[in-house]
Amino acid sequence: MTSRERTSESLEQWVPRTLLGKMIQGGRIASIEEVFMGGLQIREPQIVNVLLPDLQEEVININLVQKQTDAGEKSRFKAIVAIGNRDGYIGLGAGKASQVRTAIEKAAADARLKIIPVRRGCGSWECGCGKPHSIPFQIEGKCGSVKVVVIPGPRGLGLVASEVSKVILGLAGIRDCWTRSYGSTRTIPSFAYAVFDALKKTYSLITPTDWVK
Ligand SMILES: [Zn+2]
Repeated sequence: MTSRERTSESLEQWVPRTLLGKMIQGGRIASIEEVFMGGLQIREPQIVNVLLPDLQEEVININLVQKQTDAGEKSRFKAIVAIGNRDGYIGLGAGKASQVRTAIEKAAADARLKIIPVRRGCGSWECGCGKPHSIPFQIEGKCGSVKVVVIPGPRGLGLVASEVSKVILGLAGIRDCWTRSYGSTRTIPSFAYAVFDALKKTYSLITPTDWVK
């Protein structure tokens, strides 16, 4: 079965293949927080669909990839898709296929498997409201030659960022921040992955016990 068929099948027809999937379908795990607290790996995109029904999807980039094979030149599309619930969860994934639509569906399924929690907060010294409208501290992410720095901002600032960053930060549920970027920032896939890498740091910079509470 291709991932396209997997993502388009309805949840009622979903037959979980993993223990985690079975636990979720059986109601033994009811929230995505439990999945991350337990350090469990998500290997089926449907898990995310069940636990985060308000998920939104955005196509970040589509590229035509030419590949030389024995049978001649083969062209495929590569899609990058971001998913998020605008409330602390974001995923970024990639997919390749000979049809654009299939590449997007593969990328959307991959993004679900790559989903991460994003710690939000008010790290802005100018603001200090304590509400989770921004990030708790400055974070940095890298991909290839691209580096992105995300800086906490005061309430009402909005997202001072490029279009791609705005989409990803918005899907993660961040409303106010500044961003700085370095390197070949016009390479959209690298840029998107650098923002995603930065968001991973909101939790990886502290010990897991900090956020289990
Ligand atoms: Zn604030």
